[in-house]
Amino acid sequence: MIDKIKKFEEIARELDVPSEKRTVYRDQMVALTESFLDELPNMKAFVPDLKSSKLVDSPISDDSMPMEDVLALLKETVIEPGLNPASGGHLGYIPGGGIFSAALGDYAAAITNRYAGVFFTGPGAVRMENMLLNWMAEIIGYPKNSAGNLTSGGSIANLIGIVTARDAHGLKARDFERSVIYMTNQVHHSIEKSISIAGLKEAENRFINVDSKFRMDVDHLERSIEEDKANGLNPFAIIASAGTTDVGAVDPLEGIGDLAKHYGIWYHVDAAYGGFFCMVDEVKGLLKGQKKSDSIVMDPHKGLFLPYGSGAVLVKDSQKLYNSHNYFANYMQDTQKSTEEYSPADLSPELTKHFRGLRQWLPLKLHGLTPFKAALSEKILLARYFYEKIQTLDGFEVGHEPDLSVVLFRYIPKHGDANEFNEKLVDEVQKDGTVFLSSTTLNGIFYIRVAVLCFRSHLDIIDLAIEKLLEKVKIISKN
Ligand SMILES: *Cc1c(COP(=O)(O)O)cnc(C)c1O
Repeated sequence: MIDKIKKFEEIARELDVPSEKRTVYRDQMVALTESFLDELPNMKAFVPDLKSSKLVDSPISDDSMPMEDVLALLKETVIEPGLNPASGGHLGYIPGGGIFSAALGDYAAAITNRYAGVFFTGPGAVRMENMLLNWMAEIIGYPKNSAGNLTSGGSIANLIGIVTARDAHGLKARDFERSVIYMTNQVHHSIEKSISIAGLKEAENRFINVDSKFRMDVDHLERSIEEDKANGLNPFAIIASAGTTDVGAVDPLEGIGDLAKHYGIWYHVDAAYGGFFCMVDEVKGLLKGQKKSDSIVMDPHKGLFLPYGSGAVLVKDSQKLYNSHNYFANYMQDTQKSTEEYSPADLSPELTKHFRGLRQWLPLKLHGLTPFKAALSEKILLARYFYEKIQTLDGFEVGHEPDLSVVLFRYIPKHGDANEFNEKLVDEVQKDGTVFLSSTTLNGIFYIRVAVLCFRSHLDIIDLAIEKLLEKVKIISKN
């Protein structure tokens, strides 16, 4: 047996890469990422899928593959095709981040592999996560006894908020049919998904009217609540958006908060996109009402420019978040010895989790908040700049004035259908790929969207986007 063990050991040791080899691998990987960053200014924001089967033609097998070949495969089949979210030219959807210092945090997190799920096993990692959440609570104006969780993104964060709301109101399956959830038709589709996963599909989903800027009509909300109460229903949750994905609309957060309080309704704010803008003077007034919510979602992979995989949820009354998510297992009895801090595992569906705190903490410590705030202010002003400039150009028309950093616009052709023209226009811009814009349809009107949130989008990119639009309009008009 000893011989066998030794034999396996010899082969298994391959996984514990020795120092000289580490240097080689690291240099090879850094060469790839450095050349990516160096080439980035000249790279396209969008490359249609190459439809290559090279990746799947290289199956996982018992055999090893040299690093050069692995990296070449990665570059060609994964890094090159599709959207390039690292590019400043990414002005579609809600752009994500990917700051360099966050990658260094991930590197250290993966190598040290601290256990971030439970305080007893990873006290530092858990303290770090809770400290980051406390900081987020502080900037939105939540009290000290709030708690939260660093999630993989806004979708899971919304789910956690909605499950907590359901339990805090003691809803049982038999109550679902007479319980009412209020929102607008502009909420992110992850809200509907969360409602469904939380078992609340049978609850009454009440869609409240929006104003001309797609913000919730508070008077209509109040009338609906009164009507539902009069009909013996149970108004249970209001879901507002602090920056809708489609148009960047911020619902009247304070007015909604006052109503929620008056009627004893759970108030959830989806601020996945807009939450962190509360740090900047240009729009902080719009977001003041975030503090009136009972639960709130913010996405550091949007507003803090971190790489994908970073969301957050905060719940004002920490006990309610804990009540919905803490469970016990015999094999984990030792972990009960330290209870100085909440454990993330008791505040979310996850047990073992990525050590997400480090990719956020390192950049915030290393750069300080100043450049983050400057970047957020810059994005707001770039959106306003685009909004003002595009409407001065012949044939272009804008949607409503932006609340945050999403602008809607379209081109009105002299002849023919405007929707068809703009569909072609966004298609041409995407095919070109220098910048990436996306589109939406509102009240039957096809709009092109410019969403400014990538930390690499600056004034020159906005001017380039305008240049590309003019170029493509000319081409389409000729055909
Ligand atoms: C992006 C977004 C979400 C979903 O978040 P993910 O991080 O993509 O899961 C939810 N709500 C809003 C308003 C968003 O912008």
